[in-house]
Amino acid sequence: MLVSASEMLTKAKAGKYAVGQFNINNLEWTKAILLTAQELNSPVILGVSEGAAKYMCGFNTIVGMVNGMLETLNITVPVALHLDHGSYDGAYAAMNAGFSSVMFDGSHYAIDENIAKTTQIIKDASAKGISVEAEVGAIGGEEDGVVGSGEVADPKECKQIADLGVTMLAAGIGNIHGKYPANWAGLNFEVLAKIQEETGTMPLVLHGGTGIPAEMIQKAISLGVSKINVNTECQLSFAEATRKYIEDGKDLQGKGFDPRKLLAPGVEAIKATVKEKMELFGSVGKA
Ligand SMILES: [Zn+2]
Repeated sequence: MLVSASEMLTKAKAGKYAVGQFNINNLEWTKAILLTAQELNSPVILGVSEGAAKYMCGFNTIVGMVNGMLETLNITVPVALHLDHGSYDGAYAAMNAGFSSVMFDGSHYAIDENIAKTTQIIKDASAKGISVEAEVGAIGGEEDGVVGSGEVADPKECKQIADLGVTMLAAGIGNIHGKYPANWAGLNFEVLAKIQEETGTMPLVLHGGTGIPAEMIQKAISLGVSKINVNTECQLSFAEATRKYIEDGKDLQGKGFDPRKLLAPGVEAIKATVKEKMELFGSVGKA
């Protein structure tokens, strides 16, 4: 059964580790992530962007697929199904379809409107036991076509949004979605420490987990980050393994063209990436 992200993140914050949010794109992705979480006895959050939801034929299809897998694969670790960077309407559509967690990304609104919309969503989500992530200060890079410039959040605004009763808070601290440029300045730990000071026990979320050096990840966790989003890194691993399979001519040998064979190396590559991240985040054995 799907659970909200609330309990797993409260435990993570208290235990000084982070739970990974791994974004899904299709059946192979979902199965690879769920099997790895179960194998490592780790809680996990499946992230779905609105673009990916559209690609996978809508929220209902995804909820059906994930619930089916939890049962068929005997997944007993805590799993949250979470809308990533949701719009206001998207958050409601995901909640109605059976998502157990939603992010409402109101970071592009003025703070007052972000607060008003976040407040309404929290009210309706908490009535259904659904966790809510809010965002303050746009995160750089590309979010489904929306490009930000690597902003740093205002700790006071973080406190304002945290006090509304969100479950978890995403705050820009110099992190970027996608691949990091060579001249990236790194995470702003000074701001992160201030945000943590203002928001206390609130689990903080680090977006754009791909390519942040391990020691920066660990320092961020020590400063209150309890959820880390990984998307691009699984895509890169999958693409690399699939390319190698084809370049080696394996699709031309025997029944190597069978999608179950063709996609298998990519699935194994996703599993390896997820395992590496869960070990780095410290969530192994914490289910
Ligand atoms: Zn993000």
